[in-house]
Amino acid sequence: FSYPMPVNEPVLSYAPGSNEKNALKKALADLKKKELDIPMYIGGKAIKTGKKIAIHPPHEIAHTLGHFHLGEEKHVKQAIDAALKAKEDWAAMSWENRAHIFLKAADLLATKYRYQMNACTMLGQSKNAYQAEIDSACELIDFLRFNVHFLSEIYKQQPISGPGMHNRLEWRPLEGFVLAVTPFNFTAIGGNLPTSAAMCGNVVVWKPANTQIYSAQIFMRILKEAGLPDGVINLIYVDGPTLGKVCFSHRDFAGVHFTGSTGVFNSMWKTIGENIPKYRTYPRIVGETGGKDFVIAHKSADVDAVVTALARGAFEFQGQKCSAASRAYLPSNIAEQVKTKLVAAIQSMKMGSVEDFSNFINAVIDEKAFNNIARYIDNAKKDKKAKILVGGKYDKKHGYFIEPTVIETTDPKYASLCEEIFGPVLTIYTYDADEFEAALDLVDSTSPYALTGSILSQDRAAVELATNKLRHAAGNFYINDKPTGAVVGQQPFGGARASGTNDKAGSMLNLYRWLSARTIKETF
Ligand code: GLU
Repeated sequence: FSYPMPVNEPVLSYAPGSNEKNALKKALADLKKKELDIPMYIGGKAIKTGKKIAIHPPHEIAHTLGHFHLGEEKHVKQAIDAALKAKEDWAAMSWENRAHIFLKAADLLATKYRYQMNACTMLGQSKNAYQAEIDSACELIDFLRFNVHFLSEIYKQQPISGPGMHNRLEWRPLEGFVLAVTPFNFTAIGGNLPTSAAMCGNVVVWKPANTQIYSAQIFMRILKEAGLPDGVINLIYVDGPTLGKVCFSHRDFAGVHFTGSTGVFNSMWKTIGENIPKYRTYPRIVGETGGKDFVIAHKSADVDAVVTALARGAFEFQGQKCSAASRAYLPSNIAEQVKTKLVAAIQSMKMGSVEDFSNFINAVIDEKAFNNIARYIDNAKKDKKAKILVGGKYDKKHGYFIEPTVIETTDPKYASLCEEIFGPVLTIYTYDADEFEAALDLVDSTSPYALTGSILSQDRAAVELATNKLRHAAGNFYINDKPTGAVVGQQPFGGARASGTNDKAGSMLNLYRWLSARTIKETF
C-alpha cells in the first residue's frame, strides 16, 4: 500500500483580526478557566494515583493550569505489561489500517484540535503563538504524514529473486517494547518519538518531561480518538531513575527513542551496557541530545543576513532549541556593524506573557533552567574576558523571565562560547577577517557538540571551504540562513558527536531503527 509524498502543513499567520487568532485566543481563555486533572494512560485506561503535581505557566507561576498524577515503579511495570499485551495484535494489523490511525490523528490535529493543542503548548511551555503553530500544529502533523509515506517506501524495498527461488524481507517490528523519553521544548518531538516507533508495529512506553505533560496528554487523547488500540502507546509520568530502573532491567526492553540532555543519554548507555545480558536482544539506542550551535560569518557576508540569523536563531523560543545559535564568530571587518544592528534588533524584542501576541520573548521553562542561565550571565558580568553587550537582566517574580542577552568574549575557549546553556544567551567572538580558516578550526574544535551550524558568506569559495572543513561539526548545516527551523521532509534533523546518534528525525533513517528485518528465502 503506497502513500505519496505529502505536502507540508501550511503555517497559519495569526495576524491581528484573523479568524485563527480569535480561535486561539478563545482556546487560551477556555484552558485558563479550568484546572485540568491529568491522568496517566496505561492500556487505554486513565490512571489517577492521587499524587498530584501542579502545572503552572512558566510566564505566570501564580496561575495553576492543572495537576498531573505522578506514578511510581508499579505503574512503569503496568505500562510495560500493557504494551506487551497489545503487541501481537498491533504487529499483526495490516499496514493500511495502522497508517490510517496516524493519518487520522494528523487530520484531527490540523482541524478539530489545532487551537487547543497550540494553546496547551503556549501555556504549558511558554511558546508564543507562531512558535506553537510551527511546533505543535505543523511539525507534528508533518511528522505523522511524512513518516507514513517514508515507512510505506521502506516496506516496498525487497531483494532480488531468481529462477526456483523467492527472496523477501519481512519488515518486522522489534521484539519487545520501545521506551520514548521526550523533552519539554518541542511538542512535536513529544508526539514523534512514540508514534514513529509505534507506526512500525512496535508498542511503546512514553514518558514526557513533566514540563511537557500539559500538551502531551491532549496528543494522547487525539491518538485514542483516531483509533489507536489500547496499550500500543502508554503515557506515564514518573521520575527518571524509577523509569530507568524498571525499563532498563527488563528482558523485553528493545530500544529507547530519546531527546534530552547529553548527560542523561550517556547514563542511559551506561546502564543499558551493564544490563546487556538481561535482554533478549540488543536494544536500539536512538538519541538527539545537546547542541552548541554556531554561526560563522565570512568577511563577505551580508550584515543584515547575519543579524537576522542571530536574532532569530538565538532567541526564538528563548533559545531553548537544541538547534539554537549560541555561539557566533564574526570577522573583524563587519563585527562592529553586526553588533550595533543586533543590539538594536534585540532592544526591539518585547518580552512578556504568551497571551499578548506582540511579545516575542516569553519565559524560560522552569526555575532550574532560569538559575542555570542566570549563572552564565552573572559570570560574564564578573569575568574580565567577557562583557555583556545587551540584556543581562532577569527576574522570576511573576515568571521565569530572562532578557535576550549577548555576551562578547575575547577568549575562544570561554565557557559561554563552548558549553550548552539552553536559554536566550548568545556569545560572540570576533576573529581576524583574514584568518577565516583558523576561525573554522576554532568552530570545529572548541565544543563537543555537532548538531547545527551556519555559514554566512557571499563568496562561494568560502562557502565550499567551510562546508568541507566543518563536515563533522554539524548534522544540519545551513548556508546563508539561521541554524534553526528544520522542516520535516525538507531538512531531516539530527547531529552526531555529543549531539546524539544522528538518526535523522522525520526521515527513513530514523524509521529503520524501529524495524528488524527477517530475510526469507524459499526454493521451489
Ligand atoms: N528541529 C528543531 C529545529 O530545527 C530543533 C529541535 C530541538 O530543539 O530538539 O530548530
